[in-house]
Amino acid sequence: MSGHRLLIGGEAIAGEGGPVAVENPFTEETLASVGTASAAQVGAAADAAREAFEAWSRTPALERGEMLHEIARRLRDRQERLAATMTREGGKPLVENRDEIDWCAAAFDYYAEIGRDSAGRVIPPIESSQLAMVVKDPLGVVGCIVPWNYPLLLLTWKVAPALAAGCTVVAKPSEITPLSTLELAPCLDHLPDGVVNLIAGAGDVGAAMSADARIDCIAFTGSVATGRAVALACADRLARVNLEMGGKDPFIVCSDVAAEIEIAARGGAWAAYLNAGQVCTSAERFYVMEDVYDDYVSAFVDHTESLVLGDPFDVGTDIGPMVSAPQRQKVIDQLDAAVAAGAEVVTGGGDGGQGRGHFLAPAVVTGAAAETDLLREETFGPVAPIVRVKDLDEAIELANGTRFGLGANVYTRDLGSAVRCMRELRAGTVWINDPLTDNDAGPFGGFKQSGIGRELGREGLEAFQETKHVHMETEIERKSWWYPYSEYGAS
Ligand code: NAD
Repeated sequence: MSGHRLLIGGEAIAGEGGPVAVENPFTEETLASVGTASAAQVGAAADAAREAFEAWSRTPALERGEMLHEIARRLRDRQERLAATMTREGGKPLVENRDEIDWCAAAFDYYAEIGRDSAGRVIPPIESSQLAMVVKDPLGVVGCIVPWNYPLLLLTWKVAPALAAGCTVVAKPSEITPLSTLELAPCLDHLPDGVVNLIAGAGDVGAAMSADARIDCIAFTGSVATGRAVALACADRLARVNLEMGGKDPFIVCSDVAAEIEIAARGGAWAAYLNAGQVCTSAERFYVMEDVYDDYVSAFVDHTESLVLGDPFDVGTDIGPMVSAPQRQKVIDQLDAAVAAGAEVVTGGGDGGQGRGHFLAPAVVTGAAAETDLLREETFGPVAPIVRVKDLDEAIELANGTRFGLGANVYTRDLGSAVRCMRELRAGTVWINDPLTDNDAGPFGGFKQSGIGRELGREGLEAFQETKHVHMETEIERKSWWYPYSEYGAS
């Protein structure tokens, strides 16, 4: 058993549910066994959050903001320790995990400030003797359920705005990567007890949270199938949901970037292979115009073959192992099916010569048939299928041709093409000439089955607020339109 404890009502408590084993995906050794939350402990966490809500929701926004800035400071102080834990449990290169902690701290700082910037707006009243306002109230207790690929960042995108809005939290990491989340406790111990509760567990704990009447909203990031289960459980009790789900992001390369084709290939490779392709906004389908197609594939393959697989702790490792054996197998199965339908794996696809760890060498695929899952369903691995298209019309039509709509990338210098892509791509984020760059102030989320609601930006704060219209008359007088109607309009 590891020393990792749950945080419930300000106390560190051993999980009393069945333990989960946490694997190091590089060494394939068991890192720790973590006691999960029992049903009673899920309830205790919800109770603690409910109890803390009244005082926290009334705490002045400036004070809440100062406490959020303190979380950011503590994250920066513990950057090395937390990044190392994420590297051990998730396999992402240390350099990427250090960045993740920086981004978490920046998001806490951002919400510390916008949380005290506005609490609604004043609207024009019906009559001049009146004051009318739109007031933003905290929603209540927020349940946060997150996946394994960015354990702390995706948690932060929920916890920071929820706290800034005046809500309290029950948060559950993925059973695959619970350690870094439970190690956050020292970053939170200046908050009043129960404001943030951290519990561990798998789908059963997530399902118990989704069904718990004490939790007013579930903020979820994960797969479409699980998101649907969460939405159904919340619909049953009419609780709010904010859902961030899967993607199948397109990446369009226009012929006008012939002079910068090497840069567009490097940008594409980074977008496809970052975190071993396990990013919800990974570029998973490349639509490249025919004039530049051959040069693009060749530059992409050369760059792919130069990337270094290895120990995620080593300086110079570009790509670490995938998170687990089943995750790797899912990607291989999708690749094999595409090959059986006529695709060619130009490079990669094996274990990259690594003797251990769940490695998948980054793969470039050409000739994939449009109807194969490789071009339709989420891959979540380091695979770049490149498709030749004749023009932008075809690229946009194919790009919009899946059930997903999370992000989309385009390389072009042509203003008309950029504006067309901006307007016509059905995706929550469109990146033009700079793939996958997030911005705390820019809302993040999906069209179609990729999501409901948004994180980050003001929208990310509003996800955890209730909207109240306040109509105030400063004169107490009888209104001419009241009963009796025999007098209505007479005065
Ligand atoms: P997952 O759906 O399997 O699990 C996500 C979380 O839900 C985990 O904490 C899991 O324990 C929990 N869960 C499982 N069953 C549940 C249930 N019935 N009720 C409530 N909770 C339950 O996803 P994953 O494999 O951990 O993560 C990968 C997926 O996440 C991919 O599909 C990826 O696209 C998506 N993702 C989306 C975004 C985004 O912002 N849109 C970001 C990162 C990852």
